[in-house]
Amino acid sequence: MDFELSEENRIFRTAIQDFAQKEIAPLVDEAEETHTFPVQLFKKLGEQGFLCPRYPVELGGGGGDKITECVMVEELNRVNPGIAAAVMAQSGLATQPIYRFGSEEQKEKFLIPAVKGEKIGAFGLTEPNVGSDAASIQTRAVRDGDSYVINGTKMFITNGPICDYVIVAAYTDPTKRGVGINLFIVEKGTPGFTVSRKLNKVGNRSAETGELVFEDCAVPAKNMIGEKEGGGFDQLSDTLISGRITYGARCTGTAQAAYDLTTQYAKERVQFGQPIVKFQNTRFKLAEMATHIDVMRTYTYQVARKYDQGKNVRKEAAMVKLFTADILQKILAQSMQIHGGYGYMMEYPIQRFWRDGRLYTVTEGTSEIQRLIIAKELGL
Ligand SMILES: Cc1cc2nc3c(=O)[nH]c(=O)nc-3n(C[C@H](O)[C@H](O)[C@H](O)COP(=O)(O)OP(=O)(O)OC[C@H]3O[C@@H](n4cnc5c(N)ncnc54)[C@H](O)[C@@H]3O)c2cc1C
Repeated sequence: MDFELSEENRIFRTAIQDFAQKEIAPLVDEAEETHTFPVQLFKKLGEQGFLCPRYPVELGGGGGDKITECVMVEELNRVNPGIAAAVMAQSGLATQPIYRFGSEEQKEKFLIPAVKGEKIGAFGLTEPNVGSDAASIQTRAVRDGDSYVINGTKMFITNGPICDYVIVAAYTDPTKRGVGINLFIVEKGTPGFTVSRKLNKVGNRSAETGELVFEDCAVPAKNMIGEKEGGGFDQLSDTLISGRITYGARCTGTAQAAYDLTTQYAKERVQFGQPIVKFQNTRFKLAEMATHIDVMRTYTYQVARKYDQGKNVRKEAAMVKLFTADILQKILAQSMQIHGGYGYMMEYPIQRFWRDGRLYTVTEGTSEIQRLIIAKELGL
């Protein structure tokens, strides 16, 4: 696949690999143990143009494209999917709605500092009682003079506990299902906005995830994204389509890390007088894994390229997420099996990728929801 990447993309891949090894790898163990994202990384990534590499240079970005963002996400996932989760929330969910639909003032105040890593963003759609059925969110935003008063609770929000602002989906007109939703930027410190708890997760422990509560939380009307009430569902869709392609890179990077660790282990572990990599069963599994990873990567980058060309990739983005997240589960299961009992020990890193990767058939639309989208797009 690499030969199809542009020269810029290849140079970027080498640069982000170096950065990840030097600046991120040494932080991983402590971040995982303490369930804490090393926030200083945002600024370091931002300074290099690595944090949000697809946004224009004049906004502080790397001036790249969707493929560049995928390269970044793939490489960070190879090192640590938890840290990558926090970064990709910033490069996608927490910035894209402002980039695509925000006012100049919102770009100045929130987007540029986020792209530079000076502000941490989050994105709140999911609620305690509403996940897949996003049009059923219960959060409300009611106009009151120059403000909107927001009431509701957002669940499982990546970067929630550490964010400087969160983009919140709320109904301005609950009588219009889906259509009556708007997105609002809520700043940390706004009265009525609290992080009610930081959640204790099975994996991706170096990303911080929280439950956010909005209680009579008045935000300036100018913090609404878009010029009129309604239309937020389209903004959500736009953001999620892009995110599903990024998920292909996330799954590919995690799969590559699992393959690399497993190959190394299989070469070192000796049973019946020979390294287990010599058994046909192991070699077949590794060969199949490598094949799947190649297809995952190729398909992800192909769809990213179509996205960069401005094509409608609603169906393909769902296919990327469905395929890569589901195949990853098989790759992780095979990796664990080849590691035998040691794979189940916390001191071996494969368990971390296994725990982290388990998430990907759930977040940003479950595999079942991707199937629903694909079926609809196929006209079934
Ligand atoms: C670690 C983590 C980080 C997250 N980060 C964010 C974030 O930053 N921002 C945010 O807004 N959200 C975030 N989420 C939420 C995530 O997007 C949701 O968990 C996901 O959309 C699924 O919603 P749910 O968990 O409520 O599951 P549910 O919607 O309750 O689904 C439960 C099961 O039912 C299935 N199901 C539901 N409806 C159908 C249907 N019509 N047909 C067939 N099967 C169906 C689902 O596929 C799933 O298997 C995060 C979640 C986690 C765990």
